[in-house]
Amino acid sequence: MLEKQLLNIAQEFGSPVYVYDSEKITSQYKRLTNAFNKVKHLKINYAAKALSNISVLKLLKGLGSGLDTVSIQEVQLGLAAGFSPETIIYTPNGVSLEEIETAAKLGVQINIDNLSILEQFGTKYPKVPVCIRINPHVMAGGNTNISVGHIDSKFGISIHQIPHILRIVENTKMTINGIHMHTGSDILDIDVFLYASEILFDTAKHFKNLEFLDFGSGFKVPYKEGDIETNIEEFGKKLTKRFNTFCKEYGKELTLAFEPGKFLVSEAGYFLAKVNVVKQTTSTVFAQIDSGFNHLIRPMLYGSQHEIVNISNPKGRERFYSVVGYICETDTFANNRRINEIAEGDILAFKNAGAYCYSMSSNYNSRYRPAEVLWHKEQAQLIRKRETFEDILKNQVEIEL
Ligand SMILES: *Cc1c(COP(=O)(O)O)cnc(C)c1O
Repeated sequence: MLEKQLLNIAQEFGSPVYVYDSEKITSQYKRLTNAFNKVKHLKINYAAKALSNISVLKLLKGLGSGLDTVSIQEVQLGLAAGFSPETIIYTPNGVSLEEIETAAKLGVQINIDNLSILEQFGTKYPKVPVCIRINPHVMAGGNTNISVGHIDSKFGISIHQIPHILRIVENTKMTINGIHMHTGSDILDIDVFLYASEILFDTAKHFKNLEFLDFGSGFKVPYKEGDIETNIEEFGKKLTKRFNTFCKEYGKELTLAFEPGKFLVSEAGYFLAKVNVVKQTTSTVFAQIDSGFNHLIRPMLYGSQHEIVNISNPKGRERFYSVVGYICETDTFANNRRINEIAEGDILAFKNAGAYCYSMSSNYNSRYRPAEVLWHKEQAQLIRKRETFEDILKNQVEIEL
């Protein structure tokens, strides 16, 4: 999006505000499906947790996407957005049997990631086909917070427990219709991905009634200069070839599924915030914006570096700034960052603010969550109102004291 368009949105809807470019979401979706156009049955299930606004979900549904959900509430949100139950996969971790039963009754694809629930669910509902999430024990990327396929990860059923899975399946007569893995969100190169895929293929051979293989996600998008980006086109070629060979051996054209979140929405998002104070200290110049980790926690939680542009002065000379928020806590968005000269009142745009930004926001310091705007067909449309004081008090119960 153009800086001018973003600036107009900040003026019209106030700050802070999240803006999503529908065109970018669409082009990312098409890029992924194009890379796999030699696969007969491809299914992209957008990971709702990355950005769960109902209008964004509807946009993705319109593109032909399914939905990957991790809670019963995300399932309900998907249904409310118009996804039919069979296009929703439910991949929870550590939830109760009751929640999984509720999801099964809604008709969505169940994905189970532990032996205890597998045995209980299979015993009670042998007729409901289930997908199994395996843990291939692949260390993808260096960050153990977001790498979820390694040996100590809480996710998935270990591939060393396949004999136990098979015993449960045989005892309960349940049907396994899919095998799933999600190795994490920090894939460094596609060879790691392909290596993990081999483990998925090996696992799949044990099951006779499969309909799909779900390779999860982990596609990297660039955040800062020099970042590695997953080469989707090359990955598409290599995995397609391998997948089609596997289907021949297996004797059936299976569906190849992915569940990207970040890849589809990260780069489509901008977070716009206003500079309240420019504060010169003995060591740096702070630019303090009308936000904090209550609105955008990724820099503090994961050390993610979101590029920051001063859209009020894009041509100004560059200076070094520490961009921080207004929360009573250290809330550093960027340290020693080169940004076009900032004056109080300027609007800063944070890039890559589509994935895991609004969806991780909170009311900390009793601040309102920001508004969300969709830039669609050259028009800015409000898709979530800024919260008000009523929202802060909404569920609080004031007792007599
Ligand atoms: C979060 C999640 C995804 C999406 O990961 P991205 O890195 O955003 O693409 C996919 N599958 C599952 C099971 C997840 O939990």
